[in-house]
Amino acid sequence: MDFEIDDSIKAIRETVRRFVDRELIPLEPWLIRRETERGFADEGLLPPEVEADLKAKARAAGLYGIDVPAQYGGQDLGAFVKCIVFEEMRRSIVPFHLPPQSPNLSLLRALCTGSQVEDYLIPYAAGEKTSCLAVTEPGAGSDIAGITTRAERRGDKWVINGSKLWITDAKRADFIVLIAVTDAVKGIRGGLTAFLLDRDTPGVSYSGPYPVIGEQAPYGVNLDDVELDDSKVLGEVGGAFIPLSKRLGVRRMEIGARCIGLASRCLAMMIDQAKARSTFGAPLADRQTVQWWIADSYQEIEMVRLVNYRLALSMDRDLDPDAMRRDGSLVKVQATEMLTRVVDRAIQLFGAMGLSKELPLEYIARLVRVFRIVEGPSEVHRWILARDLLKRGLPQ
Ligand SMILES: Cc1cc2nc3c(=O)[nH]c(=O)nc-3n(C[C@H](O)[C@H](O)[C@H](O)COP(=O)(O)OP(=O)(O)OC[C@H]3O[C@@H](n4cnc5c(N)ncnc54)[C@H](O)[C@@H]3O)c2cc1C
Repeated sequence: MDFEIDDSIKAIRETVRRFVDRELIPLEPWLIRRETERGFADEGLLPPEVEADLKAKARAAGLYGIDVPAQYGGQDLGAFVKCIVFEEMRRSIVPFHLPPQSPNLSLLRALCTGSQVEDYLIPYAAGEKTSCLAVTEPGAGSDIAGITTRAERRGDKWVINGSKLWITDAKRADFIVLIAVTDAVKGIRGGLTAFLLDRDTPGVSYSGPYPVIGEQAPYGVNLDDVELDDSKVLGEVGGAFIPLSKRLGVRRMEIGARCIGLASRCLAMMIDQAKARSTFGAPLADRQTVQWWIADSYQEIEMVRLVNYRLALSMDRDLDPDAMRRDGSLVKVQATEMLTRVVDRAIQLFGAMGLSKELPLEYIARLVRVFRIVEGPSEVHRWILARDLLKRGLPQ
């Protein structure tokens, strides 16, 4: 597979790099202070005015709609370019997403039909509408087969009852992509259906926010006799599982790129500090332990980056879904565990300053703890990989 980054991609990467250096990194001290003070407040990751300002600047820099198909007004540059852009964006801890977010874009692209294209896909692709995904429930997270939120057919309506938990942005998103059981006997093999649920639909209420370690504070969503008509069914009735799995694959590539971006930042900081700080008459850069931290971090970042590029290119070329699933699990486990090690080394190298809120390192160390659980815990991905290899043998 050819991983060449041609001049046009390098130019985009340079634009993103400038955007991150000029617009995001200067916001970090403010972000760290706000996160410390926010507590249980019911606020987004960024205040609306900050987000609007960053969006306007990103649009002016030509960074909108990178992986949006041309027919929906996007740049149609694909997953590989989005992966590289995402890596650059995530050198900063500022949680600003270039619209639209790729995981739900992939789901809407695959499944929207008829009026859904005008009502949801196009405004989402243009960054005018936001969405979230609601799968997890109080009783089932990584085991999707265990969800019990039920959508029943009554007359010409779907009536939905149940509850979702830990849903990022649920209260703020314009619409939720909601996964419900339409056939309990079939379960994940034909019994799960996706619905488009507008924020203010009668019968929908929210609980939370529930702040967790790191920056996020997801919500609960309660569904009490929520009535939807057929125009809100996203894709085939009973057909949610496969597109949902693909969407999770896009998200894993994104988490991989985020970990690579953050780890690269940590490594750059380690290199600078190792040269600048002297102890016992010698720079830290002269100590073999420090040299090994730097060398190991570099190797680990590069190895994950290559597999993540392979995953992104496979998505662009629509290659073997089994291979992509394996790479998705590999990236999810290795990228998150790699960043855990790299940020820990960086904190150790910086000493007290590394632990402080003067630098972004302690923020990253908390953030990465979340990554090892969301979108499938590491243990579940290892189990999926082992099950696949034991069943099919080594990929040829
Ligand atoms: C900040 C945050 C944001 C989130 N946002 C969303 C969202 O927007 N939408 C959404 O739908 N969900 C969201 N989630 C939920 C998230 O996807 C789930 O937490 C995750 O899938 C794990 O599910 P669980 O927490 O129920 O853990 P469980 O499935 O109960 O697993 C608990 C632990 O058991 C172990 N385990 C489980 N299965 C196995 C196995 N087969 N082999 C070995 N060990 C195993 C693992 O160590 C795992 O960590 C979010 C969660 C958080 C914390």
